[in-house]
Amino acid sequence: MSMTAPLHIAGAPRAGHGSAFERRNPSDVRDVVAAGHAASADDVAAAVDAAASAVPGWRRAPGRAALLHAWGDAIAARSEELAQLIAREVGKPIGEARGEVGRAVVICRYYAGEAVREIGEVIPAGSPETTQFTLRDPLGPVALITPWNFPLAIPLWKAAPALAFGNTVILKPSEMAPAVAAVLAETSVAAGLPAGVFNVVQGAGETGAALVAHDGVRGISFTGSAAVGARIQAEGARRNVRTQAEMGGKNVVIVLPDADLDLAARLTAAGAFRFAGQKCTATSRAVVHHEVMAPFLERLAEATRGLPHGPVTDPGAAIGPLVSAAALERVQGALASPPPVAFEHPVPAGEPWSHGHWCAPVAYRIEDPAHPVARDELFAPVLAVLEAGTLDEAIGLANDTRYGLSASLFTRDLVAAFRYVREIEVGLVRVNGDTTGVDPHAPFGGLKGSSSGSREQGRAAREFYTDIRTIQIHA
Ligand code: NAD
Repeated sequence: MSMTAPLHIAGAPRAGHGSAFERRNPSDVRDVVAAGHAASADDVAAAVDAAASAVPGWRRAPGRAALLHAWGDAIAARSEELAQLIAREVGKPIGEARGEVGRAVVICRYYAGEAVREIGEVIPAGSPETTQFTLRDPLGPVALITPWNFPLAIPLWKAAPALAFGNTVILKPSEMAPAVAAVLAETSVAAGLPAGVFNVVQGAGETGAALVAHDGVRGISFTGSAAVGARIQAEGARRNVRTQAEMGGKNVVIVLPDADLDLAARLTAAGAFRFAGQKCTATSRAVVHHEVMAPFLERLAEATRGLPHGPVTDPGAAIGPLVSAAALERVQGALASPPPVAFEHPVPAGEPWSHGHWCAPVAYRIEDPAHPVARDELFAPVLAVLEAGTLDEAIGLANDTRYGLSASLFTRDLVAAFRYVREIEVGLVRVNGDTTGVDPHAPFGGLKGSSSGSREQGRAAREFYTDIRTIQIHA
């Protein structure tokens, strides 16, 4: 059943005045999930005006914590509906979609707590008559530009801290997830958020560009591809507006000879192929010590065969489709002259598979680390397997990328683990774990080309969403 996905401005739904859109289920394109009209430039301006008008009443509102708790409750009350919508709209297997909704509720609760924690420090002053302290103030209206792959959790892990610290929000969700954003807006009303505090403008890149260029926007938090992130950062710099960008990854596991190979294979298969590898933290490279290459690959192939393909609303599904026909075409193009295949996990033939953008999980043996499969973020169930002879060589290969988001080392050797922790150039460093997943109360972000600006989530979010002022009182 298709729903209308309107804009949400000043506390109420509103039809957009831009071009018409339609969103179809990527696992079965006969299913139309949502339709609507994108925001025009005037609609974007109206949303920014609504957010600016709401700032004075919200920036010091005492009830922010209770309202964020209520928002979590409102999301929890519609959790199954939201999970089904996530599954149908972006092709996320229903088990993971349910997990995402649960995480969204936790994010609201966590930032409800943050809303009542201390917002400054007392600092010794140069004279005995002076009391010196800091205060943290909100930036004002902030623009949140989000990708499609976590259509509920990413908007919330930006919006909840923004609101907790007294900012107001204009969310520009992905054009591939308008329905989830529309329901999120409805839950903000059910929770009792004041009008104008949380606004949504639907649309694609053009709408996002109009939003970040608007003079009323005082902060920009972006998650998405490196190319768009670079453009948004340039716009933020032009206007001297605080900007944060979380971008792509080329995440890696290293497997040493003493590793628990069953564990390494199970977690590599999960990290590389669940949700068809469409997570910024998905494993897309495995650097394996030559002594264990054969047994590791054998176990990895077996673990991968244990991950069922969709349909996405089937509770057993682990591997969904790619999000769009364009994504499938892009991946097929990148694999036009493929390296040797280590193994493949074919998608079943016939109904209903012929109606979706399905892409078979595949692992390639890569000799040349400069091969595009080992270099580029494909955002697909594609794993580049490289061989190393020593820990140093493995870390060198792992660091040989423009990205730096997530990595994991599989070993039982404490010395090797500490060496790797010191040398690996990523923001999320794991030992004997999955490259994916993160606790919402821990800082999240990468190094090098993966991130720019301060970290998201946990207490780290306060750095982005507040300005510090230093106060001196002489008395
Ligand atoms: P994308 O960059 O294509 O789009 C992201 C958002 O930017 C969308 O809302 C899009 O409409 C908007 N946009 C596009 N052009 C714009 C412009 N010129 N001005 C303003 N906004 C514009 O990314 P995507 O395909 O939605 O998501 C996949 C990418 O996101 C991958 O690269 C993935 O690694 C990354 N990602 C990163 C993280 C992280 O936290 N590091 C998390 C999830 C996804």
